[in-house]
Amino acid sequence: MRALVLDAPGTELREAEVPAPELRPGQVRIRVGACGVCRTDLHIRDGELRDPKLPLILGHQIVGTVIDGGSAFTDGARVGVPWLGWTCGECRYCHAGRENLCDRALFTGYTIDGGYAEEVVADVRYCFPLPEGPRDEELAPLLCAGLIGYRALRAAGDGECIGLYGFGAAAHIVAQVAIQEGRRVFAFTRQGDDAAQSLALGLGAVWAGAVGERPEQLDAAIIFAPAGELVPEALAAVRKGGTVVCAGIHMSAIPSFPYELLWGERVVRSVANLTRQDGHELFQAIRSQPIKTVVEVFPLSAAEHALDRLRRGAVRGAAVLSVAGQPPATV
Ligand SMILES: [Zn+2]
Ligand SMILES: [Zn+2]
Repeated sequence: MRALVLDAPGTELREAEVPAPELRPGQVRIRVGACGVCRTDLHIRDGELRDPKLPLILGHQIVGTVIDGGSAFTDGARVGVPWLGWTCGECRYCHAGRENLCDRALFTGYTIDGGYAEEVVADVRYCFPLPEGPRDEELAPLLCAGLIGYRALRAAGDGECIGLYGFGAAAHIVAQVAIQEGRRVFAFTRQGDDAAQSLALGLGAVWAGAVGERPEQLDAAIIFAPAGELVPEALAAVRKGGTVVCAGIHMSAIPSFPYELLWGERVVRSVANLTRQDGHELFQAIRSQPIKTVVEVFPLSAAEHALDRLRRGAVRGAAVLSVAGQPPATV
């Protein structure tokens, strides 16, 4: 099969013909239709996340068609494969319903091969059946940006005014969920990022502007950008009792800040990975209230180009690799 292979962190992905992965008991074989490009892929590619499987096929927002499903799925069923690829079921976290924190968890496109390829195998227990309707390319960003965004929104609490710091793949999805829940969304972007601000306003945000502005006191904030200096900034923007959720897997160091920013029972917390329950809840929710994803589609061979656009903050919405189809690149 054709795949893009990471041989070592900090090097370019290499397009190669590799053997199709071996199908083990409990797994399904999937023909990849589309695979989302996540900032986490960039952190792995650039060596900011340690100890990936090597060589590695990146990609953990996989939408595809089951071509060997055993008894779990009929052949031809459309499924999604997320970041959480396997958990032990035995550790204290698994027993407590917090499998996202499993000590021995394996992650798609990080410690097991992912979807920057024509085929992937996945543990059937971690695959989600997907709704009819949207194209594979439109669904792919839900498998991580959507899921992590959804988990972050739940962690942010029930407040009405939600600030989103960094308006990319995850924020543009979570904004729609929050608005459907009757909340008011404030989008904070880099100074002068008109594309992201107009995207936010077009999706229903009540305000979009630069980080540092304070349009209104927030009940909670979610930080999607990997910039530690946003933590004190967001703390200063939330009211007493408010929560600041750090939703990325990697962030630069958080600068020291005066205790008064945390005082008033403000909370800073992270969100790590996802549980299968998060996935079932999100996909249930979008069956009744669809989410519109804004995607930039690239052919599989252009993954480096897509990652580079993500690195430069140039992607509007989410970047997606189209694998089975042959749509023209939008860029
Ligand atoms: Zn476990
Ligand atoms: Zn991701």
